Amino acid sequence: MLDRLRELLGATQVLTGEAAAPYGYDWNGGGFAAPLAVVRPASTAEVSAVMKLASETGTPVIPLSGRTGLAGGGQGAGALVLSLERMNRIREIRVGARSAVVEAGVILSRLHEAAEAEGLIFPLSFGARGSAMIGGALATNAGGSNVLRYGNTRDLVLGIEAVLADGTIVDLMQDLHKNNSGYDLRHLLIGSEGTLAVITGAVLRLRPKPGAYATAMVAMEDLSPALALLNEIQQATGGAVEAFEYMPANFVEDYLALHPGARAPFESRPPVTILLEIGALAPRDCTPGLDGALPIVTYLEDLLGRFLEAGRISDAVIARSGSQRAEMWAMREAASEIAGTRDPRIILDIAVPVDRVVSFLERADAALVKADPGAGTSVVSHLGDGNVHYTVFPTRVDPVHKDHLVEAIEDVVAELGGAFSAEHGIGTHKLSTMARRKDPGALAAMRAIKAALDPQNIMNPGKLLPPA
Ligand SMILES: Cc1cc2nc3c(=O)[nH]c(=O)nc-3n(C[C@H](O)[C@H](O)[C@H](O)COP(=O)(O)OP(=O)(O)OC[C@H]3O[C@@H](n4cnc5c(N)ncnc54)[C@H](O)[C@@H]3O)c2cc1C
Repeated sequence: MLDRLRELLGATQVLTGEAAAPYGYDWNGGGFAAPLAVVRPASTAEVSAVMKLASETGTPVIPLSGRTGLAGGGQGAGALVLSLERMNRIREIRVGARSAVVEAGVILSRLHEAAEAEGLIFPLSFGARGSAMIGGALATNAGGSNVLRYGNTRDLVLGIEAVLADGTIVDLMQDLHKNNSGYDLRHLLIGSEGTLAVITGAVLRLRPKPGAYATAMVAMEDLSPALALLNEIQQATGGAVEAFEYMPANFVEDYLALHPGARAPFESRPPVTILLEIGALAPRDCTPGLDGALPIVTYLEDLLGRFLEAGRISDAVIARSGSQRAEMWAMREAASEIAGTRDPRIILDIAVPVDRVVSFLERADAALVKADPGAGTSVVSHLGDGNVHYTVFPTRVDPVHKDHLVEAIEDVVAELGGAFSAEHGIGTHKLSTMARRKDPGALAAMRAIKAALDPQNIMNPGKLLPPA
């Protein structure tokens, strides 16, 4: 098998032993799982050749991109890891069409830079953007902080190219906004976590780059009125809110403890801190006035001033420079770092309807106190899209106890019509939840699709779908 892979790709692109070891680790501390080998194809044709060989020999394959996934989907002892890292070309930025044609191994931040050079943005962004790749983002249908305005990965993909388990290349690299020609395989592959195909390329939707941002930290005594504020700000700005991110007092405390040099947004620790960002497109909002002030920033200042006078918020601070804006984002993007400081931990990535986030938090906290009175939490929320990262620090390491806590929180999620995975996917971490909570009809349909496209079960086996 290894000899044949070397013939196909060249000996330097087939890693084994120590050279392959780094690919066996999970970002989230999932321990080590030694791969059979790591292959690094440079083209779709090479991916296809590898998959044909894997299919012939019944070898399990794990497609792997930036290795920042948080669901344990990129590991598997004895599997062939197929790394997309050498397929890293941005083939074209189509300025007029506002789209980008890319290979799956393009790192997210590289695409950001290339788009910005043309006055455009690829709006998918999150803390791991310096390592995560397009293939991984598509495979997990990643979300992030700007979903409120631009949607998640699924909303940003116009075309896709992929290689199926038997080596068949599916070329749907079209730059089309309308295309009703049969089943939309693009959307089947997005979010499939490497269990159906290797994604090798994509045509992505770009957006005009905002000419100016107005970014603020807003303090409130209570989270309940936050959604009404967001809706008013959306109305007042023509839907220009890019981010509306909730951080409770203990999140801010934990961040400051980890980064003693960082500046606290407020002198006191309000129960609610919201990172609010507006992106302005119209030149009238982005062109500095005679006093040098950006109209969009002045507008936000007036708006927040009125909220303050009305007692609807308790304080606000607006970023006056790019570095102040970066400081505000640094705190929000430290969420994974903060959650990773304590063990044991249970990371829950919850979605509920946007008007039920407060109810979820109240009920989840109450359920947790009942199930494990000494447990701690680290909470942060993409409040504008209903996604809550609810990390629990239980009082003891004990699988039965862990299951009990997960069940208690997921009962609340189910009661509120929510989802147990918002943006991280299922991987291996959520398999038991998937078995317990996913609609049985949907699970059966997914298994039928998997069996049809990957009859030998070689595509990332043991991920996403629990055993029947
Ligand atoms: C600090 C930090 C912050 C994060 N913030 C967010 C956030 O805000 N929102 C969010 O959604 N996620 C977030 N994540 C999770 C993660 O970054 C995303 O899931 C990301 O999209 C994974 O990309 P990757 O290239 O690292 O994929 P990998 O980790 O390499 O792979 C992830 C999964 O996709 C499969 N896969 C990878 N490439 C392919 C391919 N080409 N074809 C088929 N399957 C493939 C793998 O088998 C695996 O199952 C964060 C992670 C970190 C570490």
